[in-house]
Amino acid sequence: MLGLVPPGGGSISLDEPVGRSPTVSTNPGTPSSSTPKLKGSRKLRDENMRTVRLRLLPSGAQERKLWRIADATARLWNELNYTRLMQFRMMGKIDFKGTEHEFYHRYKSVLGVNAGQVIRLNNSAWKSYFETLRLYRQGKLPKFMGKPSPPGFWKDRLLGRRKLVILVRNDRYYLEPTNGGEGYLLLKDWNLRIKYTGRIKWSGKQGTLVIKLEGNRWFAYVPITVGEKPARSNPRGYVKGVYDRVQINKPKGTNKAFIDVGLNNLFAVAFNHTDVAILIKGSTIKAEYYWWKRETKTYQAIRDWLRNRGFKTWRKYHAFHLHAKYKQHERLRHYYRTAIRFLAKTLHGMGVNEVFIGYPYMLNQNNSNEYNANIWWYVKIIKWLGEVLQEYGIRLNVVNEYGTSKQCSICNANHENGRIKRGLYVCPVTGIKINADLNAARNIAKRAGYETPIPRKILSYIVTSNGVKPLTPKEGVTVETPTVKNPTPQKGGKGVIRSRRTPGLR
Ligand SMILES: [Zn+2]
Repeated sequence: MLGLVPPGGGSISLDEPVGRSPTVSTNPGTPSSSTPKLKGSRKLRDENMRTVRLRLLPSGAQERKLWRIADATARLWNELNYTRLMQFRMMGKIDFKGTEHEFYHRYKSVLGVNAGQVIRLNNSAWKSYFETLRLYRQGKLPKFMGKPSPPGFWKDRLLGRRKLVILVRNDRYYLEPTNGGEGYLLLKDWNLRIKYTGRIKWSGKQGTLVIKLEGNRWFAYVPITVGEKPARSNPRGYVKGVYDRVQINKPKGTNKAFIDVGLNNLFAVAFNHTDVAILIKGSTIKAEYYWWKRETKTYQAIRDWLRNRGFKTWRKYHAFHLHAKYKQHERLRHYYRTAIRFLAKTLHGMGVNEVFIGYPYMLNQNNSNEYNANIWWYVKIIKWLGEVLQEYGIRLNVVNEYGTSKQCSICNANHENGRIKRGLYVCPVTGIKINADLNAARNIAKRAGYETPIPRKILSYIVTSNGVKPLTPKEGVTVETPTVKNPTPQKGGKGVIRSRRTPGLR
């Protein structure tokens, strides 16, 4: 419904505007009788949908063909979109049927029935724009969103080059795995048989294939309805992977976990059954995010300098700039997915069957690129976590966390002068200090109707490029925070850890 534009283009949708009225959404998990009834709770649709990403390794000739098909796809999108934009500007409405018919027949010879996939995608982009516009006019969108824009064009603004994407209808391709990690992708309409690498985790019915050029590499995104049999009309439209159902494990207990998501602590987790708490630090992710950000800015500056002075070499720096953005995205994706896998496994090991996660509500933020990028990643992280937890049969509930960072989880008051100092929440009434993110996690628990013991043992971890590593010297045996080089927490009292305060999202 609501499109948020990610840093790398494309769009994802949320069911509700970010940070509005308390929102609870869930994955199915394993039903538990003790689940408190939360207002507005409902199941996420498409809970058995998973997307597998495969790297394509086309030959030179195949790659030229992919370029031509992708270019035609983008031309179709752009021409159709332009016609519709003109209709909308002149008449205030769009002739969906008429434009559909016209452009389908214009592109059928090059794209075959796949032209219809492009048109359908454009239809839904316009429909979601109209829906967002309606909400905007009714004043129902959060302020930072601003006025929605109509669907954009598939091109790189600077180079004037079209964005390369190919859509393939679910019955116009199939995968031919040769072994666990590679095989061939067959595109029937263009007589292509392209080698791919990548592990296929899921088995099930395949959906519309998306092929994209990202950072000069071709990727195929295969949506799979896990466990579903193919249609009788398309028996080959079935992807054979490792698992034919999403839930692989069963929860070991009925404990609940409460998670606050942030930049300093990517995940701060409190529990209802133990005074152990978990902090997964995001400092490496943050450092890498800023490193790539500096890279992209530098290339951008050189590019603009050259371009303004008429040097043709600006294109080279534009390519560097795009590559750095791609790398940043890939690196963050890897870190986040590593952290999420680790967290899900840990929670399962601790007998958790239900998780409550705060949905970031960020006030006083201007509509900067950085803010949008952060929100985009948060939405992704919650989506990925939900998917991985589902593999363990753990239910995920998303709770609007508005106010949870200010509220005092010790005495329940909403102190006017409750302050956050060096990563600690200090209760002015009791004088107790608690890690600010764990304070937020405990408030998320309260919001869901649970009590959590004040954390006494804090297990700290850090996400590195080759896995999540413990910062605590011996797991679970110390209340003291160890000394590490980066970040530099100091010794704290019982149940209290101190971490370096860094300007973050809140
Ligand atoms: Zn207090």
